[in-house]
Amino acid sequence: MLEVIVGDITSLAIDAIVNAANPSLLGGGGVDGAIHRAAGPGLLAECRKLSGCATGEAKITSGYGLPARYIIHTVGPVWQGGTSGEDDLLASCYRRSLEIARDHQLRAIAFPAISTGVYGFPAARAAAIAVKTVTAARREDFEQIIFCCFSENSAAHHRRELSALHENDHP
Ligand code: ADP
Repeated sequence: MLEVIVGDITSLAIDAIVNAANPSLLGGGGVDGAIHRAAGPGLLAECRKLSGCATGEAKITSGYGLPARYIIHTVGPVWQGGTSGEDDLLASCYRRSLEIARDHQLRAIAFPAISTGVYGFPAARAAAIAVKTVTAARREDFEQIIFCCFSENSAAHHRRELSALHENDHP
């Protein structure tokens, strides 16, 4: 089931939440900062052992103080105008996060709107890529995939893309 909600991803009791991290995996602002604050210092200690993460890739850690069991950290592209491979890299974030979740037999996962904050990716374009990539993945392995948006505006972009794919009729 694909869902769009508006809320704080750190509050979700779910198998895995995805973090829009930076390449150091050592914390930052936005959703990354919120996740590190809510998870506590154990998360930073585990992240230090991961040696960072490439853009478009993803790595998993435990959820520590979060209600989520695991955190999948992915590094979105910084928007540079759209001709530097940003679309493919963003799609890769969603695809790799789902692959890692599947490898760990995780059945429910929530995504933030990766790259649409500090990294500056246009929200509507990012939502189209997010929805297209997730719907093209092997969704039958998952019970629940949530787009956890932080604003009504962001949620509206995701809902519009889902409607365009008739996902509302065939969730
Ligand atoms: P990036 O550096 O990938 O752009 P940001 O964290 O700056 O990452 O923003 C990514 C998205 O996450 C933005 O749409 C932002 O509004 C949203 N966001 C920020 N905090 C939270 C949160 N606690 N839960 C869900 N989404 C959040």
